Amino acid sequence: MSEEHELEELHWLMGVVHSINVGIVVIDTDYNIKLWNNFMVNRSGKRADVAMGENIFNLFPEVSSSWFIRKIESVITLANRAFTTWEQRPYLFKFKNYRPITGTAEFMYQNITFLPLKGIDGKINNIAIVIYDVTEAAMGKEALENANEQLERLSQTDKLTQLNNRGHWEECLESEFARYRRTGQATTLIMFDIDHFKNVNDTYGHQAGDEVIRQTSKTLRRTIRKTDVAGRYGGEEFGVILVDTPSANAMILAERLRKRIEALKIRYDDLVIEFKISIGIAELDKETKDYKEWLERSDKALYYSKENGRNQSTLYDKEKIGDLKDVG
Ligand code: GH3
Ligand code: MG
Ligand code: MG
Repeated sequence: MSEEHELEELHWLMGVVHSINVGIVVIDTDYNIKLWNNFMVNRSGKRADVAMGENIFNLFPEVSSSWFIRKIESVITLANRAFTTWEQRPYLFKFKNYRPITGTAEFMYQNITFLPLKGIDGKINNIAIVIYDVTEAAMGKEALENANEQLERLSQTDKLTQLNNRGHWEECLESEFARYRRTGQATTLIMFDIDHFKNVNDTYGHQAGDEVIRQTSKTLRRTIRKTDVAGRYGGEEFGVILVDTPSANAMILAERLRKRIEALKIRYDDLVIEFKISIGIAELDKETKDYKEWLERSDKALYYSKENGRNQSTLYDKEKIGDLKDVG
C-alpha cells in the first residue's frame, strides 16, 4: 500500500472513531491517554488536546485506581479482552445524563470493554477502552424491578390492615419454624380474636366493624417490635410470631396488647365503640412436629380463653388444654 493510501485509510478510520456513538479511549501502560474520541469530548467536557498525553487518574480522580489498575493488568497479562456491566459497576467515568427520555437518571450508566492492542513488536503497549451508554436499558430494568417489588409487596399485604395477609404470614410461620429447628432460639406464637365481633357488626354496621379491625391492627403494630411478624389470619383473627422470645415474655406482651385494646375508644360517626380480645400463646418446643401443630396449640389456648370468659390470655399447656377438641 502506498503511503498516500495509508494516510487516506487512517483519515477515514479516524472519521469513524470520532463520529461513532460510543466512547473510545486508548491508554498506554503508564495510564496516559493516547486517544480521546468526540463522544468522550462531548460527555466529559474535556477537549482532546487537554486529554491527550494526560494521565487518566489526574484527569478523572473519580476513577477507582485500584479497581482500574487490576482490570488493565489482567487484560495485559492474559492478552484478552475484559468486560464490565453497569450492574457490576454503574460507571467508569462520571458523566451527567442528558437524555430527556431517561431524565430520572443522574448519571450515565456504562458498560465497558477493555481491549488489548498489540504493537508491531507483538507486545501489548496500549489498551482500548470502549464505553457504551446503557442508561436507558439500566433505567428500564430498574423500573421493572421496582414494579416487581411493589407487586410482590402488594400480593403479601392485607388491604384493610396493611399487615401480612394470611398466605404470606403462614409462609413466615413455616420459615420461623424451620429456623427454630436449626437454632433452637425461643420463638413464641400469639393468636388473638376479637370478642363478640358479630355484635359490633350488628350494632354499628359492617363499616364500623372494618374500622375496629383497622384500629386493632394499628394498636398491634405499636405494641410489637420491628422483628415480630404480624398477620391478619382471618376476618378478625390475628397472629404474631415473636422471634427470640420465650413464653413468659410473650405473656407480658399479650397482656399489654389486651389492655391497650380494652382501653381503646373508637369514634365512628357519633358513636364510641369499645371492644376486647381473647388471646392464645404457644411457645415452640422440640415436640412440636410442624408449624401446623404450633398454630393448633395457640388456637387451642385461644379457645380456652374464649371458653373461660374471654378478654384474657392463655398459655398453651399440654396438661391443661392439650386434650381440648380442635377449634373450627
Ligand atoms: P367470639 O367472641 O366467639 O369470637 O365471637 P364473634 O362474634 O367474634 O365470632 P367470630 O369470631 O366467629 O366472628 C367472626 C365475624 O367477623 C363474622 C364476620 O361477619 C365478621 N367479619 C369477618 N371479616 C370481617 C371484615 O373484614 N369486616 C367486618 N366488618 N366483619 C368481618
Ligand atoms: Mg371473634
Ligand atoms: Mg373469629
